[in-house]
Amino acid sequence: MNKLRGKTALVTGSSRGIGRATAVGLAREGALIAVHYAHNEQAAQETVALIEKDGGRAFTVGAELGVPGDIDQLFSGLEAGLKQHTGRTTLDILVNNAGETSTGTAPEEVSAEEFDKTFAVNAKAPFFITQRALPLIPDGGRVINISSGLTRVANPSQIVYSMSKGAIEQLTLNLARHLAPRGINVNTVIPGITDNGHAIFKVPEVREQMSQLSAFKRLGEPDEVADAIVFLATDEARWITGAALDASGGSLLG
Ligand code: NAP
Repeated sequence: MNKLRGKTALVTGSSRGIGRATAVGLAREGALIAVHYAHNEQAAQETVALIEKDGGRAFTVGAELGVPGDIDQLFSGLEAGLKQHTGRTTLDILVNNAGETSTGTAPEEVSAEEFDKTFAVNAKAPFFITQRALPLIPDGGRVINISSGLTRVANPSQIVYSMSKGAIEQLTLNLARHLAPRGINVNTVIPGITDNGHAIFKVPEVREQMSQLSAFKRLGEPDEVADAIVFLATDEARWITGAALDASGGSLLG
């Protein structure tokens, strides 16, 4: 507890799923959280309520990513919220979590629109969010990018999603080198299949099939991925940068 007291964090896509669990986990360690969402403001408010119930502090920021003006909208809400709560705009921790998940399209069927949308949300937005955040991030700050186990195995129906997650891992690698002189650590977390509450995870046959992918033969829970993200945000991870931390329950062991 309190490993992040006095710190501030932006978790993109924290109205639900892994992002929500991350927001709650970072807040439990004392950080003030900007809970970002695209459209589901009520879900974002629920994340704030969960944090406040635990005695933490948070505010919401709405901005659809992957559309014109997205970064401006995100940062105007973020900076206003930070100023209101801290009197400054310092951002210690950035978690690039929001992502579009493909429903599965064969390579022959992928349209230019689907490709552009996936890359706009999963690769371009994290790049420009990070670029815009850099002046706000002090020495000792953290950038944590959320990838996917699909960067390590072939699943042709997820080719565009996997390519976009490959891009975010390059963001980590290059910025880890670039930002080390400022004492900013940049890392990737790789979730496996994680029950984010989506209807698909309620279907018993689908659950069973997906569970077989993990060495533990079950689905991951959002807080199990979030714990890895929170660890990377703490001082205990100060010697780790440019790494990809597998939080997939051994899904990549083969
Ligand atoms: P999720 O439950 O589907 O939630 C997605 C979050 O991102 C929501 O907060 C949503 O906001 C936001 N979001 C989605 N599209 C957006 C957009 N265009 N602009 C702004 N915000 C947007 O997600 P999740 O399953 O927890 O996944 C979180 C991250 O982990 C993603 O990067 C995903 O690729 C990665 N991941 C997930 C799994 C898995 O099995 N769940 C596996 C590997 C990797 P609204 O609520 O407003 O829509």
